[in-house]
Amino acid sequence: MVHRSRTRHNPARRGGAGSALVRPTPPAEASRAPSRSVHGMRRRTKIIATIGPACEDEASLRGLMEAGMDVARLGLAHGDLDGHLERYHRIRRVAAESGRLCGILVDLPGPKIRLADFGTAPIDFEKGSRCNVRVGADCSTIDDIEIEYPGLLSDVQVGDRLNIGDGRLLIDIVEKGNDLLVAEVAHGGRLSGRPGVHVPADRLQMATPTDEDLVALDAFIEVGVDMVAVSFVRSAHDVRRVGTEPHPRGPLVVAKIETRAAVDNLTGIIEASGAVMVARGDLGNECSIEDLPPLQKEIIRECIALGRPVITATQMLESMITNPAPTRAEASDVANAVWDGSSSVMLSGETAIGHDPINVVRTMSRIARRADEEFDHHGWAAELAELRMTDRDGSSSSVTDAMTLAGWRAAEELGVDTIVCISGSGFTVRSMARFRPRAQVLGFSQDPRTVQQLTMSWGTVPIQLDPEIGENDRVAESLIAAREQGHVASGDLVAVLAGAASTAPSTNILRIERVP
Ligand code: PEP
Repeated sequence: MVHRSRTRHNPARRGGAGSALVRPTPPAEASRAPSRSVHGMRRRTKIIATIGPACEDEASLRGLMEAGMDVARLGLAHGDLDGHLERYHRIRRVAAESGRLCGILVDLPGPKIRLADFGTAPIDFEKGSRCNVRVGADCSTIDDIEIEYPGLLSDVQVGDRLNIGDGRLLIDIVEKGNDLLVAEVAHGGRLSGRPGVHVPADRLQMATPTDEDLVALDAFIEVGVDMVAVSFVRSAHDVRRVGTEPHPRGPLVVAKIETRAAVDNLTGIIEASGAVMVARGDLGNECSIEDLPPLQKEIIRECIALGRPVITATQMLESMITNPAPTRAEASDVANAVWDGSSSVMLSGETAIGHDPINVVRTMSRIARRADEEFDHHGWAAELAELRMTDRDGSSSSVTDAMTLAGWRAAEELGVDTIVCISGSGFTVRSMARFRPRAQVLGFSQDPRTVQQLTMSWGTVPIQLDPEIGENDRVAESLIAAREQGHVASGDLVAVLAGAASTAPSTNILRIERVP
């Protein structure tokens, strides 16, 4: 055994590395209904994988789910709405046929400006070469780049540098005509498809969500989507403009933090959202690169304090778009995102257009699980408890805070392996998950949409509870279901947290029970 110094994960003080012992490499991904013997080994941090041309057929989707994909992301910036709806139904069908839970997150592009299509064959831009830049949506070539943004000529000036494809190509605007800009390549690079171009968000005239976003959102609400991500939010008002019913009646709204303004209005945005994404691609364009890691930690810490799941996204295993194994730095990035407190880690191009998406998910799963094993559960929860003790206003959220803290304490004190949370909206489960308990968290709900939405929550095994079961029988029926599904055994001591929905909106029951 190798001993290392123990650094506490501290949401208030920007956490560090994990616990003291290095354990053996865990076995392959746990099966559909993991038995108790493997629950100690099960990955706690969730994986979101973006579905694209490389993985959208049924066999690949099945493979991704088997490899550990908890949530499938449909990025609406690429492809048409009908194609995405088809993919949506295919994911649902494959999940149902394989008896697996897989959440679906639809990512609305917002006012993301993209270049018109270069086609699939990569094009190399040489440093020092020149090209025209126009408004258009037909096609882009090495000589004529078209940008799908009507405000291009008014918002972009001579002297501006445009960052294309998350930094793959940098062009400087050197001339401006009536209907075109002339650009010189400052940093050469390879482009294909429809890369995004970064124009500073405070110069953009477009609101988010855009009218196109709202049309797409309506179509996905119609089919019952679980979660929806909103791009380029700048304020809580932008999140509220989504205008859906509060979850779980509507989708869980995920605010993507990728503008300076969003960082400045962080608390309000988190409070208005169901979850948050640290969208490092665009955020990395809006801030200097050295500011990105501390911002990632700050955003995660604030989400933890406010009980919202938080996704760390973009370029986590980027080299695996072409390579069979990640770089050492990428492996450390995933592990550090886990230790920072991410509920989920996300894959974008790695799965959407990568050469082996299933291998990517498997790899991320192994890294995340190993990082989970090293997590300093006790240190984390103790710090979080201190952080929350200042909030005692008797509101329903502070009651749930206090009850979940009590649940965590009881579970630690008694050494119970399982915390059963029974929740309508999922709030109690998410509040419990915040404490990062060592014990497994079984998140029961009678609402199928809540169950789907819990696929994104750290450490939670979402379980559907029969909607017909009466309030007084929910605890007993949950324990029976947990036993029948192999999560607990008869005679186990478990902590149970539940809300008596008819009397209070918050969690008001904490019981220690033996499994029948
Ligand atoms: C990001 O910018 O990091 C991100 C996740 O958004 P998109 O993939 O839409 O660029």
